Amino acid sequence: MATPIDQELAAALTGLRDAGLFKAEHPLVSPQGGVVSVQDDTGGGERRLINLCANNYLGLADDARLIEAARAALLEHGLGMASVRFICGTHALHRSLEARLAALLGQEDAILFPSCFDANAGLFEALLDERDAVISDALNHASIIDGIRLCKASRHRYPNGDLDGLETQLKLASGARRRLVVTDGVFSMDGVIADLPAIRALCDRYGAMLAVDDSHSAGVLGPDGSGTAAHHGGVRVDIVTGTLGKALGGAAGGYVAASRPVVEWLRQKARPYLFSNALPPALAASALVALDILAAEPGRRARLAALSARFRGEMAALGFTLAGAGHPIVPVMTGDARIAAGLADRLLRAGVYAVAFSAPVVPPGQARIRTQMSSALSDADLDTAIAAFADAGRALDLIA
Ligand SMILES: *Cc1c(COP(=O)(O)O)cnc(C)c1O
Repeated sequence: MATPIDQELAAALTGLRDAGLFKAEHPLVSPQGGVVSVQDDTGGGERRLINLCANNYLGLADDARLIEAARAALLEHGLGMASVRFICGTHALHRSLEARLAALLGQEDAILFPSCFDANAGLFEALLDERDAVISDALNHASIIDGIRLCKASRHRYPNGDLDGLETQLKLASGARRRLVVTDGVFSMDGVIADLPAIRALCDRYGAMLAVDDSHSAGVLGPDGSGTAAHHGGVRVDIVTGTLGKALGGAAGGYVAASRPVVEWLRQKARPYLFSNALPPALAASALVALDILAAEPGRRARLAALSARFRGEMAALGFTLAGAGHPIVPVMTGDARIAAGLADRLLRAGVYAVAFSAPVVPPGQARIRTQMSSALSDADLDTAIAAFADAGRALDLIA
């Protein structure tokens, strides 16, 4: 029998469906890639779809070399550590990967977490207490928002990308022992690259540290693929967080890279590190190969940038309203949540996988299809996708 909470939630779920806010899941039956096979909910068969919604920027999620490295590590080192890092969960592969990440990111050391969500959940509480202040961009990732909730520092928020707003908050925080400004390197719903040079200048003027979550930029931006700071010509960042679940292989894992004392302190104090199982060594092994490929195959980033520029240009020429610039995230704005859901439906029927985002993931009235380019997409895939957008956009009166 349905309990009161079941009845309440069933009604609330119906409300989400009616408002176009319900997030349906489509089970894949293939590896992640430029083209994926998805279970057909109608007939029980499979459908091949051009995939415009993975964070698989460099196409490494099904790369044979990463898989082989993980397989070899599985056979040699077993499934996992069955321990947190400080008890008996530290594997030599963890330390190798931490050193390599630190080198890529220009930091003294790095510390792995089970995910970047966990990295951000552990960072703020470990470094800041009631004497301190954290100053956060309003559009920062949910994991930053939650991490800040867990710490006792005074909380300051500035409107997305608003440098005057940031300065106002820095002034308000001037009495704090430590001031930490935190921003996404790239805002993932908008595809907007943060203005790190200007943010760094304000941090320096007001004696604040700068933390950047570069989950969508590591492996993507910068001449060496090291991220947003390098993209801007080498901005100094005190703390970098990021994920292994996007460009750097797509499996799982997160990290914080920073000075040696900060990293050492996090090993002592960050709760998701202290109280959650260590990253499986096989994932560390595959991430090491991802870093090798990042260095050895700059053509992947070049292709990603070229596909992104082409998609953006052709979609704009068709009359679509796009957000962002200069990043493989290309949001196609619809405003209304139901139109976004309708557009995603039509694309799906045309063999193109792209997901609609609506509140609360984005602000109400700013629904969109967020597309993401991948170096795994072929030119023909992109032709098909653009044609499908054109047909669906005309049918829904989004474009003429
Ligand atoms: C994806 C993402 C995360 C979460 O990364 P996981 O490793 O999947 O937990 C955190 N921050 C930002 C900005 C992200 O885009």
